[in-house]
Amino acid sequence: MKNKEIKILLSAPRGFCAGVERAIEIVEKSIQKFGSPVYVRHEIVHNKYVVDDLKSKGAVFVEELEEIEDKTRPVIFSAHGVPKKIPEDAKNYNMIYVDATCPLVSKVHREAENLNKAGYHIILIGHQDHPEVIGTMGQLPKGSIDLIQNEIEAKNYINKKNKKIAFVTQTTLSVDDTKEMIKILKDKFSDIREPFKEDICYATTNRQMAVKNIAKKCDIFFVIGSRNSSNSVRLVEVAKKSGCPNAQLIHSESKIPYDQIQNSNIIGISSGASAPEILVDNFIMDLKNRFTIKIDEVEIIKENVVFKIPKKLN
Ligand code: SF4
Repeated sequence: MKNKEIKILLSAPRGFCAGVERAIEIVEKSIQKFGSPVYVRHEIVHNKYVVDDLKSKGAVFVEELEEIEDKTRPVIFSAHGVPKKIPEDAKNYNMIYVDATCPLVSKVHREAENLNKAGYHIILIGHQDHPEVIGTMGQLPKGSIDLIQNEIEAKNYINKKNKKIAFVTQTTLSVDDTKEMIKILKDKFSDIREPFKEDICYATTNRQMAVKNIAKKCDIFFVIGSRNSSNSVRLVEVAKKSGCPNAQLIHSESKIPYDQIQNSNIIGISSGASAPEILVDNFIMDLKNRFTIKIDEVEIIKENVVFKIPKKLN
């Protein structure tokens, strides 16, 4: 096998975005400041490696505040954002809380709130049950937001409330699929109001563009990321749609398909916004142990976005 030469096209940008870096730093700084345990409501970001690492440092992950027996301990809200009720509940429990919601998700929350105040009924384009969608819908009273998940739902959407309508989106969607859904909505409702600045975030857009740029040159494409990571799953779809039908997610329980790699000359690699670079390094190291590897990093744009952590942790 070692004689087999394989070229890796390494997609860039890939991996951690500014929102994920900030969320992890918030957990680490909270442990330093308050000692352990520090509770985190929901996986801080959707990656097992990150969650396990933070557990080893003193974080305890729960799904709901009610699971926390010792409410004198602080709690952190994950990068995906939470419904308004959650910080209110934490206040009622007299808990210290730190909000690690990505500022780009908070932007969508404020947008939805302002549109609601201005008398709009809101359509949210996103995936049901994703914590970000639950968080965004939970910014407003029940019935203020309708969820649309695909083109069929966009085509069938009826403005039952008979109010002005506007749309917002989840931050980690497929750029191309979302464009299609928006086009359908705009064709149906010519005066639908759209966000001033796109809701799909810079990190999602850049990672998808980078994958699109190289996918058609690859015999096989791997995206390192967790199964519940929306932006990682989208990257697999983008690779498939952009010319590499054999695109696969490599998660914590994946078996690496060495037989398929053996039959490939060029492989593409990217990673989701919640996947640490060490997982990419380990994957490449594993391939290096079996094949002769040449790496070509293909970067389409430099990212220099940094988000500040809350003042109370400085
Ligand atoms: S993927 Fe985008 S919205 Fe999500 S945490 Fe990263 S920067 Fe924020």
